[in-house]
Amino acid sequence: MILALIIVCALSLGFLFWASYDVGSQVYVKTLCRVKTGEKVVYLTFDDGPAGEQTEKAVSILKEHGAKAAFFLIGSKIPGNEALLKRLAEEGFTLGIHTMEHSWRGPFETPARMAAELKACSDLIEAAAGSRPRFYRPPFGVTSPRIAKALRLLGETRPRAIGWTVRTFDTRRPDVEHVLRRLRRGLRPGAIILMHEKMPGSENYVEVVLRYLETQGYRCASLAEI
Ligand SMILES: [Zn+2]
Repeated sequence: MILALIIVCALSLGFLFWASYDVGSQVYVKTLCRVKTGEKVVYLTFDDGPAGEQTEKAVSILKEHGAKAAFFLIGSKIPGNEALLKRLAEEGFTLGIHTMEHSWRGPFETPARMAAELKACSDLIEAAAGSRPRFYRPPFGVTSPRIAKALRLLGETRPRAIGWTVRTFDTRRPDVEHVLRRLRRGLRPGAIILMHEKMPGSENYVEVVLRYLETQGYRCASLAEI
């Protein structure tokens, strides 16, 4: 009896952990983790910017390759980078919300505070780039009933949650071989690829990723097209 109880508790805890920490669990927030298509197309996404010069470097490589991408931005990093964001939007890059502070406490805040944070970040992006962001990336890929409620509180301006198919873990290991290995493993039509241009040397693996995608016949499209 006790053993059965322990097993049930362990399974329940395991379920709750998975539901919150797997961005693709779909338990609390419907999150797009891959675009349904048979076409050889991928969606590059960069989190945690704007990162000044690093963002500039990534963007110039993307442009050389004719690749589109989305940048999920931290609101507190936006002041001082408004001109950069305006240019990105004009050049056809997608700007999305990645909360104001990206604090580890974020997922534990009240829904009202979370909603206020999402709105503040969205307002800053809109003021800089001229249009309201349509997409949101949950920090750490964590979703919860509180985050679901916060999104509902935003009503019609609620952004669509975007997860990923390929997590490169480039913040842990920002080296070309590692990032490429992760990409090879997860590459498929419609894949959403997560990277961070803020990492020193990211221009090296961004370049290699783009070249690899080209050799495989993939096009880097914009999330705005979905
Ligand atoms: Zn992040």
